[in-house]
Amino acid sequence: MSKAPLVVTLFLTIAAGGALLAVQGPGRGGSPTDANGECPAGMTEVRPGNCQAPSQPPPSIVDYRPISTLVTGQHPVPRAKFPVIDIHGHPGNLSTQDGITRVVTAMDELNIKVLVSADDLTGSRLKATLDAIAASPHKDRFRVLCGIDLGQVGPGWAERAVKQLEADVAAGAVGVGEISKAFGLNIQKADGSRLKVDDPELDPIWQAAARLDIPVFIHTAEPQAFFAPHDLHNERWLELALFPGRGATDTHGVSFEELITERNHLFARNPKTRFIAAHFGWHANDLGKAAAMLDAYPNVVTEVGAILYDIGRQPRAAHDFFVKYQDRLLFGKDSFQPEEYPYYWRVFETKDEYFDYYRNYHAFWKLYGIDLPDTVLKKVYRDNALRVVKGLPK
Ligand SMILES: [Zn+2]
Repeated sequence: MSKAPLVVTLFLTIAAGGALLAVQGPGRGGSPTDANGECPAGMTEVRPGNCQAPSQPPPSIVDYRPISTLVTGQHPVPRAKFPVIDIHGHPGNLSTQDGITRVVTAMDELNIKVLVSADDLTGSRLKATLDAIAASPHKDRFRVLCGIDLGQVGPGWAERAVKQLEADVAAGAVGVGEISKAFGLNIQKADGSRLKVDDPELDPIWQAAARLDIPVFIHTAEPQAFFAPHDLHNERWLELALFPGRGATDTHGVSFEELITERNHLFARNPKTRFIAAHFGWHANDLGKAAAMLDAYPNVVTEVGAILYDIGRQPRAAHDFFVKYQDRLLFGKDSFQPEEYPYYWRVFETKDEYFDYYRNYHAFWKLYGIDLPDTVLKKVYRDNALRVVKGLPK
């Protein structure tokens, strides 16, 4: 390039920049960022340190639905590549033949061989479900976990709970679960205090699970964002506004960190009990913490229910994590919506890029496939569950 055009180019650039600054000036509502580097409400940073308001009234985040112009390979996966055991099933009522047939039809299309019902059933309700499954032509397509009544923990509780657990396992339950998120958050003991996750009065039940050789499927805490202030920095703002009950506002002031610490004490104090930490232990947004949990507690595995939005937004780190911890991860879906499972298959099996998650309100971002090798897929989809839950059909 000769000298003259460079000078002209620089001049034009400076002139254009000057024009832009003039447009952004106070006359058009321009404003500097504050001491925290943030723009005033209603403005966005258009140049470093320089904020501007849109020239039209902005749509709300509910109405803004941009359509991506990215053109890239699309490989939806309606059916899992290998047979799947869903360890985190909430299939609804399985105590009728109609209910069972409805779920089996969906499972067949998705390549789910066995669905583990984690609906916390116990006593006569558990028995009704087990009887209906046994009487159906699909008795090897379901297994059922049993619940533990965590109300009124106090003197005499452990003996009753252990007796009920033994009866439920004798009836055919293959594990305990899903122990609800309310455990640790807002279940009270008989004396009115918060029932902590590591309360020693519960130890006999965890020891009974070890003796009975059954896993304990436990949901502790909630996504970290649910414990954070419900303000415009919260990445789950819309979800918390749509479902206000999900915010940790009535949690007796217990924090995410306290719950995780209590949970880790529980895992450490009961090394002979196999625990399945639901939802990646709520560490899918921080894989270092997930790794620390699995490294520290060899009696713990985890599952992927309802955290796909965190796996799919960090495809390279998630790929490496799944490869490294391939023996410690189980497939689970949580809410039984047949049309949502293919998003899981697509994230695990492909290297597709920038595709939608299945819910609009708790991931404003897109997903990417993590392209797992077949050997890892087989373990996550099925083999790890067979090892951890002895009562599954082989
Ligand atoms: Zn669940």
